[in-house]
Amino acid sequence: MTIRELINMANSEAASLRVLRREERLKEIYSRCPELQQADKDITDLTGKRLVAKIDKNDKLVKILDEQISKREEQRDLIIKSSRIDPDYNEEVFICSKCSDTGYITGSDGTRKVCSCRKDLIEEAVNDSGMADYASFDMKHYRNDYLGNGKAREKILNSMVSIMMNSGAYKDKSLWLYSDKPQSGKTYLAICVCKAAIKLGKSVYYIKCEDIGYTAESVSDVLKTADYIVIDDFAGEVTQDHVCGSAVNALIETRSATGLKTVLVSAMPKDDLISACDMRIAGKIKNCGDIK
Ligand SMILES: [Zn+2]
Repeated sequence: MTIRELINMANSEAASLRVLRREERLKEIYSRCPELQQADKDITDLTGKRLVAKIDKNDKLVKILDEQISKREEQRDLIIKSSRIDPDYNEEVFICSKCSDTGYITGSDGTRKVCSCRKDLIEEAVNDSGMADYASFDMKHYRNDYLGNGKAREKILNSMVSIMMNSGAYKDKSLWLYSDKPQSGKTYLAICVCKAAIKLGKSVYYIKCEDIGYTAESVSDVLKTADYIVIDDFAGEVTQDHVCGSAVNALIETRSATGLKTVLVSAMPKDDLISACDMRIAGKIKNCGDIK
């Protein structure tokens, strides 16, 4: 499941829990203060009667009931005061006050993030998004200069993040290519950006090129609709496999049509890819954005 689906599920659990907690609180307060329970019941009954009178256009009765309701409400307020009951006793209380049980908070820079109360779901989403084998890959440990040439890596990282955030000059293109020599830390960087995206509440998938066309249907559905996907180990000959080539081509087309971001990660230079790839895919790579 994507982080969004996980959060939605957790949110409906929180909603049920809120109702349950309210019921329990009411039960406890009513057993302590039966006259409050009676007052609440009377107000509910009178309000129901008022609704019927209103539908019947019986203005005289509406007026009478209005008076009765406010009288009873006044009596209830006195009970609340004298019994020292929290005036909000009847309200549902958010389980997490930080995010009001939405699962998201907006930082001072305006960026929406997954709330800390949903932190455990991030790991679950990472595992469900093709990255179960990369538990140790984390932005916390990421260093641009780890393999030398720190400035260039920093630029690439910034571009990858901007593509993922769909910001500025990166808005227009859907398909992007990150090509660099073998053993240059491409996978590490790509995974870190995917994980960061999940923390921002985005749906993400990381997949090796050779697996496309051979995954479960649920995965291919996510690949089509996720906000951001990375296709790693992208190579010309892999796309020559009939099943994989057709699936990659269809995937890129679907995602481009809806403006979703797709990043190809390859150890092959762009020109080599264009000449080695399945023809349909080569045409798309010609026009893709370059991550530099
Ligand atoms: Zn929260």
